[in-house]
Formats: sequence, structure tokens, C-alpha cells
Amino acid sequence: MNPVAPILLTPGPLTTSARTRQAMMMDWGSWDRDFNQMTASVREQLLAIIHGEASHYCIPLQGSGTFAVEAAIGTLVPRNGKVLVLVNGAYGQRLAKICSVLGLAFSTFETAEDQPTTGEDVDRLLREDAAITHVALIHCETSTGILNPLNAIAEVVAKHGKRLIIDAMSSFGALSIDAREVPFEALIAASGKCLEGVPGMGFVFASKEALDQAQGNSRSLAMDLHDQHVYMAKTGQWRFTPPTHVVAALHEALLQYAEEGGLPARHKRYQQNCDTLLEGMQQLGLRSFIPAAIQAPIIVTFHAPDSPNYAFRDFYERVKAKGFILYPGKLTQVETFRVGCIGCVDSHGMQAAVDAIGQALRDMQAL
Ligand SMILES: *Cc1c(COP(=O)(O)O)cnc(C)c1O
Repeated sequence: MNPVAPILLTPGPLTTSARTRQAMMMDWGSWDRDFNQMTASVREQLLAIIHGEASHYCIPLQGSGTFAVEAAIGTLVPRNGKVLVLVNGAYGQRLAKICSVLGLAFSTFETAEDQPTTGEDVDRLLREDAAITHVALIHCETSTGILNPLNAIAEVVAKHGKRLIIDAMSSFGALSIDAREVPFEALIAASGKCLEGVPGMGFVFASKEALDQAQGNSRSLAMDLHDQHVYMAKTGQWRFTPPTHVVAALHEALLQYAEEGGLPARHKRYQQNCDTLLEGMQQLGLRSFIPAAIQAPIIVTFHAPDSPNYAFRDFYERVKAKGFILYPGKLTQVETFRVGCIGCVDSHGMQAAVDAIGQALRDMQAL
């Protein structure tokens, strides 16, 4: 691994390899056969990660991850549908906001930020409200790092004959999701998270059956995944200007993903990063917010040191001067900060980050 400084310990954009950045040094025409082959190859490789070749389409979309989430909901939920949104953090709240802006009927079920939604909760909620057609879930809630029990919830949703939309933005590629075993209508992720590409495109794995029936659902032209898919299937090209350099970088990132050993290897490296981080921070006397059993190896929320000398901005600048970019906390009640475990970084890098954090806090006399 050969990242240039600084190392981003943030959940996207994140640290990319020199090879991935190098892939952006060429310009591509959107009509060009080589570029369109690259798009087709990326879509194939993405589908293979979830074993979704038989059941799902992979539809890429220009923009950040939220664009793809909004496009999936706007395209797949019919206008007379109703969405149950499961919330235990900021990204869950964003799902609800998307439903609201789109004018869809929806209800929310909110648990505390350190409490996963359970299959039993969803079972009860679906029994109570027959109008619900879709359930929307965040897999790893990146605002805290909590992991929600996707498999149990998917099983319950399918048992009720309802459809599941999963925002797996921060988990896809590192945590296993197998479309042959886990029933879902849509799963959404993006280029610049665990695949270690650069930000700029999202993608939606949409059930073939659902997408084929979704014509005319979308009230947006640019965000219509049915239209995007039909056009791409017909021409091999993106509808509207493609993020060419982002696609080239993702293509190169996917080659490295395969060379590293695919999902098991990516998961293992991130888990080692997370373990190194948790252990090192514990030695510094810093407590993590999410209990270990439901902590995803993606991003960790830490309680700020209980010292009057601590201020996040000062802390951030001091750690940045040592080559590491941290992330502010996103909790309203408690003072926290976050450290990402994902990106082109290994456990040696994480140990160096822990050392930098310890030194910064000692310099601030905040430990
Ligand atoms: C990163 C992320 C998104 C997308 O955020 P953007 O800022 O639009 O890229 C959505 N959901 C989750 C869980 C995420 O981690």
C-alpha cells in the first residue's frame, strides 16, 4: 500500500491507492467503445460481488451516494406505495426526508443511536400497518458505526410479502450480502466507499422484476433508474454525461479488489484496522460509543476525552498536522468524534493514527 499523505480516516471520500488515482490520468469519450466496455465490466464485477447476476440489474448513476438512494426510492416505490423507514441515525433520517420530499406516504420507526432495529420490531410494525409496501433500512449506519441485522430483517420483510430497500453505502464490498440468500428489491452503494474508488457515482442493484415494472414511477427525469437502465441496455452508453474519470478509477479499484482477494480479504483488512484502532484507543483511555457486538468494522465513534482542554477543531488540526484526517461526531446528545477503518490503509497505518491521536491529546493536555 502506497497512499500519499494525508490518510483520510473518513467514510468516503477515503484514501485511495496511487494506482487508482493514476487511472484518472487519461480522458475518455462517452461514446467510445473502450469506455463503454469499461462501464460494462464495472457493472458485471459489481453484480458478482452480491451474486446477483440472475436476480438483479446493476444500474449506475452519476452523483454522490444520496443521489442513488433517492433515485432508487423514486423509481421503485410506486406512487401509491408506503415506505416504513427504520431509523437509528442521520442516514436513516435522510431516507425519511427523501420519502417526504418525493411526496411518498411513509412512517418511521426510530430506535436510539446505539440500538439496532430488530426483525421482531419489523414483524410487529408490518402486522400493525397493512398499507406498507416497502421497508427501507440502513445496513451500517455510518453516523455511529452501528450494524443493523440485515439478514433477520430481510427474512421478516419477505415473509410479509413486502419489499426491502437497503442503503448499504458504507458496508457494500466489505460485509457480505448474497442476493441468492437475502431477499431484497434494491441495494444501494457508491464508488467511493469500501471499494476504494473515488467519489462521483452511485449504483443500485434493483430486482429485475421490480425494475421492469417501474416505468413511469419516477417524477424526475435525471433520477429515473428505469430510463437509465433501458438506455444503457440499448446503447451500452450512459444516459447524459458519464463521470468518466470516476468510472476509470473504479474499474482500476475493482481490479485491485480482486487481486487482494475480494470481499473476504477486504473484510479482514478492515476488521484488523478496526481491532487495532479499538485496542489502541482503549489503551489511551478513550471509550467507543457502540457496543462491540454491534460495531461494524467501518467507522468507530469515540467519546471525546472528558477534559476542559479538549476541543474537536484544535484536536482535528493537530492530528491533521501528523498526516491523518478525522471526522467529527454526529450525535446530538454526547460529544464524540469518529475514526474510519476503511480506505487504502492497513493496521500499521491505523496504529500510526492511534499514535498521532495520543500525541495530539497529550500536547493538548486533554488525556
Ligand atoms: C456515505 C453514505 C451515504 C451517501 O452519502 P453521500 O454524501 O451522498 O455520498 C448514504 N448512506 C450511508 C449509510 C452512507 O454511509
